[in-house]
Amino acid sequence: PVRTRFAPSPTGLLHIGSLRTALYNYLLARNTGGQFLLRLEDTDQKRLVPGAEQNIYDSLKWCGIDYDEGPNVNDMKCGPFRQSERTSIYQKYVDGLLESGHAYRCFCSKERLDGLRESAKRLKPPTTTSYDRACADLSQKEIDDNLAKRTPFTIRMRAPDRYPPFKDLLHGVVDIQPQVNINDRRYDDPILVKSDNLPTYHFANVIDDHLMKITHVIRGEEWLPSTQKHIALYQAFGWEPPSFIHIPLLTSANDKKLSKRKGDASVLNMKENGILPEALVNFCVLFGWSPPRKLATANHECFTLKEFERIFNLNYLTKGNAKVDDKKLWFFNKHYLQSRLADPSQFEIIAQEVCSNIRPVFGDAVTLDKIKVILKKCGTALTTLNEFKDTFSYFFQRPTYTNSKAASEFLETHNKEDTLRVLEHFQDAISQSNIEELIRELASQASISKKAIFESLRFALAESHPGTKIPVLIELLGPEEANVRISRAIG
Ligand code: GLU
Repeated sequence: PVRTRFAPSPTGLLHIGSLRTALYNYLLARNTGGQFLLRLEDTDQKRLVPGAEQNIYDSLKWCGIDYDEGPNVNDMKCGPFRQSERTSIYQKYVDGLLESGHAYRCFCSKERLDGLRESAKRLKPPTTTSYDRACADLSQKEIDDNLAKRTPFTIRMRAPDRYPPFKDLLHGVVDIQPQVNINDRRYDDPILVKSDNLPTYHFANVIDDHLMKITHVIRGEEWLPSTQKHIALYQAFGWEPPSFIHIPLLTSANDKKLSKRKGDASVLNMKENGILPEALVNFCVLFGWSPPRKLATANHECFTLKEFERIFNLNYLTKGNAKVDDKKLWFFNKHYLQSRLADPSQFEIIAQEVCSNIRPVFGDAVTLDKIKVILKKCGTALTTLNEFKDTFSYFFQRPTYTNSKAASEFLETHNKEDTLRVLEHFQDAISQSNIEELIRELASQASISKKAIFESLRFALAESHPGTKIPVLIELLGPEEANVRISRAIG
């Protein structure tokens, strides 16, 4: 069976690029009836960030991504799923590699290694590897002496002369070799175990994918250049490697690598900004994957997680960098917000939520009934629920008519006398009459354009906020309040 995993390092907030990686692994497992695992790669202790682990759990849960095995979930067979808790497991494999000669202890000091790196830079032609393999063939006595003296050491893999090429399911055959200078041969010999006795990413990753019986690794393209090291390790152990699929990076619209700065692109930050999980999932999956043509038409690009589970497969991954386009995200959000509003049980939850969010702002003017009516009649104006407060503030607060940008813009661009005539005409008439008729009547009598009439009324009733049709505005405010506002606007 297919077994995939998401293997984040808890070094910061989970951002949408990682979410997409998680989604593809999850979807491949779900589509094929396989299993999806969560593993925390936390061996780089210096980079750990408190709270990051919880942020991973919360983000996945919020998006509806569940895992069959992971920290505290079915962890009897393949667990533990935190690499920091697997040190004793790795130890056994280190010993095996030392014994077979595929790895060796390196006692070189930091200063020596820094010097080697500097000299490698000056070589012509330059080399991308720097270690001179001084420790590769120490005698048993030299090793024992160093161990007795407690000289700190790392464990390095004796890299093969050429790394084995491999076939990536998306990129085809990949064969990236380190650049060497034949006159001053240096070696890649990647470190497998650091001097703190914790494994490096490469080592732990390979052992865990093997022990956890992972069949497909879908991960970001940044790992493409490391994969041949991983294959070499699989070969050293005599293990069959999984299939690899390296997906293109997400870039912002101007082709920059998506910034993680300030957590802008973090999943839970999106949540705070009013993004719905359905929208974010839809948005992320379609970066780098497109549905089979017969399913995707111009007006059908909205898919829920459940639908993706049915239709996802590896054939429709795309190779180019995926440009993140905010507009698409807002489009999806509006779509899913509107479908939530159309669902009676969701509608009830949303109304309650809005109510408790804006009551602290507008006080007693806020009632659940009023919110429901506004959502029913004007909800289509919303892209996110966060906008409710600003978009519909005028339902809860009387305009000031003086110190807003909208008000001064209106006053600058409209003839004062006409405005007064319009408002006076509507004063008191508002409660008795058909508004459309009143407007028509006034337009023909006083030769004021309909547009100017609408704008004057909108100024008086809602301080020129767009969004709600005038008759609806009057209906929701009630004739009394509408009249008070008109009088104040005239005043
Ligand atoms: N810990 C790595 C990361 O956070 C995992 C890479 C992989 O999936 O192998 O990117």
